[in-house]
Amino acid sequence: MANDQSPERRPRVTSDNASPDQLATQWARVRGRLQSEVGEVEYRTWLKHMNLVGIDGDEVTIALPTRFMRDWVRSHYADLVMLLWQAELRTIRHAEFIVRTGVQISSMPELPAVLAPQAAEPTIIDPPLAEPAPVSARFSQYAASLRSEDRSEAVLDSRFTFDSFVVGKPNEFAYACARRVAEMPACPGFNPLFLYGGVGLGKTHLMHAIAWELTDAGRPGGPVTVAYMSAERFMYRFIAALRSKSTMEFKEQLRSVDVLMIDDLQFLIGKDTTQDEFFHTFNALVDSGKQIVVSADKSPSDLSGLEERVRTRLGCGMVADLHSTTFELRMSILEAKAARANVTVPPKVNEFLAHKITSNVRELEGAFNRLVAHANLFGRAITLDSAQEVLHDLLKAFDRRVTIEEIQRRVSEHYNLRISDMSSARRARAVARPRQVAMYLAKQLTSRSLPEIGRKFGNRDHTTVMHAVSRVTELMELDAGFAEDVELLRRMLES
Ligand code: ADP
Ligand code: MG
Repeated sequence: MANDQSPERRPRVTSDNASPDQLATQWARVRGRLQSEVGEVEYRTWLKHMNLVGIDGDEVTIALPTRFMRDWVRSHYADLVMLLWQAELRTIRHAEFIVRTGVQISSMPELPAVLAPQAAEPTIIDPPLAEPAPVSARFSQYAASLRSEDRSEAVLDSRFTFDSFVVGKPNEFAYACARRVAEMPACPGFNPLFLYGGVGLGKTHLMHAIAWELTDAGRPGGPVTVAYMSAERFMYRFIAALRSKSTMEFKEQLRSVDVLMIDDLQFLIGKDTTQDEFFHTFNALVDSGKQIVVSADKSPSDLSGLEERVRTRLGCGMVADLHSTTFELRMSILEAKAARANVTVPPKVNEFLAHKITSNVRELEGAFNRLVAHANLFGRAITLDSAQEVLHDLLKAFDRRVTIEEIQRRVSEHYNLRISDMSSARRARAVARPRQVAMYLAKQLTSRSLPEIGRKFGNRDHTTVMHAVSRVTELMELDAGFAEDVELLRRMLES
């Protein structure tokens, strides 16, 4: 085609002879469908900022203005975007997401011909720690399994087994429940099993561990069939089935398994048709004595936005909570990782990491992996000095984050209380008020959810936290002295 020879157009022009105009129309259609699939809010937050760069062979390339957005869209919508593109152009097999600073935020795509060189990725202050490397590999595997029949193995991570899961106080109950279900699925009282907790605390790890165990050929009683997928993937598959008019097959396939596992159920919130489908599948399976395992970031009762009937059914089996890690658990995890990786890490370095990186296991692992990679690369031993140096940027970011523990400590010091008063049941005003202040500050200064904050304050309900926040806000308006106190505490914590 003559067009393809023109110099500016050569880099990326669709192999399907689509003109830029056609491409623009197709892109508009893809965006329209995306919008109706994911809902207005998600679309506006993330997907609206996508820009079509072009199509090259079987790959569609899409640009986003920041690395953060790129990572988010890639990890949450890559499959969906690819599927929708495939509906337009059968040849599409991959969706590639890149960062382009200064891409205009518009509803019309750029023409593929105007391909500026990819700008350097912007420096970001708080780099995401999740290892981005395997994403593309995982993506193609994902995409492949989407197209072929659903084999649960296709998405199970071989590292996520019971053996590699380190058990401690915060996760022992969830672990025990997971073990139990893996041994004896569909046991009364454990069906459904609902695992919940904040990000990076091991929900996916436990779910994969259950799935590995259940599909193990050497399992007593023989392996059983398991369908494991994230709620998003459930949605994509459902949408794909709708599109290809094969919903019956989809339903039958899901209803034929012994164990259905849905990870990150919170993603079904607001997606009513998909939620409906999930509910029916759920009921059909439970009614025929099959096991369901579900994970989410909140407990069933806190998953607002989920239909009441779904919530009720989810809460009627076993609900197990993965709590934030403790120092001891973080130490054990680091030791276990070092042993697995066969590297020697001085206890001082582990202690240092366990003290500094308190957010979740994923970030802790990220820091650890970075240390090991660095040591291997430069052939140097891991020392406290090298750890501080290698993790410099990361630790700085962590130092700036205020923890709930820190808030509790400062507030109790300020009001002359014991730190245990923060989680005690004492209701005397002299204790209750400072506790409310600490809850208020936790809400203001950390990204923790209300239930998470409540848990840290002696397992209080999220409504108690909500009440504390509004009460303190109110009092600050009424009482200038009180407001000054709270402001002072805030400034101390932020500095
Ligand atoms: P979630 O699904 O809750 O966001 P993941 O299961 O993906 O979290 O866990 C994040 C990372 O931390 C994974 O690499 C996982 O293996 C690791 N991890 C979490 N908890 C533990 C644990 N108790 N022992 C060992 N590794 C863990
Ligand atoms: Mg997960």
